[in-house]
Amino acid sequence: MRNALHVLTDELKRLKASGVKTVNVPDATLVALRQAVLKESGVRQAESGKNERMTPVVAPGDAPAGKTLPETVPPEPPKAYSTLRAPLSAARAPSLLPPPPVFTLPEGDKATRWAGLRDRVLGDPVCRAHVRPGKKVVFGVGSIDAQIMFVGEAPGADEEVQGEPFVGPAGQLLTRMIQAMGLQRQQVYIGNIMNWRPELPTGADGRQYGNREPTEEEMTYCLPYLRAQIDVIAPTIVVALGSTASKGLLGMRAFKTLGEVRGRWHEYCGRPLMVTYHPSYLLRKETESKLGERRAKRAAWEDFLLVMQRAGLPISDKQRGYFMDK
Ligand code: URA
Repeated sequence: MRNALHVLTDELKRLKASGVKTVNVPDATLVALRQAVLKESGVRQAESGKNERMTPVVAPGDAPAGKTLPETVPPEPPKAYSTLRAPLSAARAPSLLPPPPVFTLPEGDKATRWAGLRDRVLGDPVCRAHVRPGKKVVFGVGSIDAQIMFVGEAPGADEEVQGEPFVGPAGQLLTRMIQAMGLQRQQVYIGNIMNWRPELPTGADGRQYGNREPTEEEMTYCLPYLRAQIDVIAPTIVVALGSTASKGLLGMRAFKTLGEVRGRWHEYCGRPLMVTYHPSYLLRKETESKLGERRAKRAAWEDFLLVMQRAGLPISDKQRGYFMDK
């Protein structure tokens, strides 16, 4: 139920961000909502003192490990994942994709639910139909117990070959930044908004050169898969890398420029969300000017320091000083 309330709140925030001013809710639904909130506050009171976590989000149908819900709370039916909203682009463009997938996760422990979700995504006929022969649908990687989850945009050329997010040049920079935090790549979780490489026309050799941003419709199709990964992994902190990831998590109309939201804490489904630059942007800066590169990397690093601080990671003086002007 808690999870459902988070989903609802998130959806209302999205609608607000996209300019919707009123939402018609039938009286019966309002009554049911009020009852749900009252029941939820009862659960929180019963738990208070036992659990200080900001907003625990449980994956479909499960109580948090080692905890039993009070008997008065009926078991939650398996949660059906969907974006709960129509593709924002639907009114303007003819639909090329079917509606977003609606699915539930298998019962069981975290590893079982994660593996079930992975199978579901890798076998999704829509995702498979959008990858070229020999290329792969890309699902998240890393520790399923990760405290920190990074979210990127979409696979590129290297990722669709290896079937793993962030393995190309941008991924190598991300890996170095994770190491600069004092962590190994395997200790965090890395996912993308999109599960396939957004297509562009191929050259005469049949290869795709370059990348494009995903469309809203593509993002809308894949978002339930990312949301389900966040629910299963249950990271303490989510980090959105760049504009596409931030729009996917905060809402398509939540901001105009990344600068409006970067370097600050936001919330996604009750979890702290940090917005920072995409590593590809930092790589582009490398090709412009030394000063520009240093400034952009320092700004991104300051966001990472905020994440480290919130995650309770030790921060040395050396780490604090990375990319500072000498
Ligand atoms: N850029 C992304 O956003 N994701 C990847 O997986 C690779 C590059």
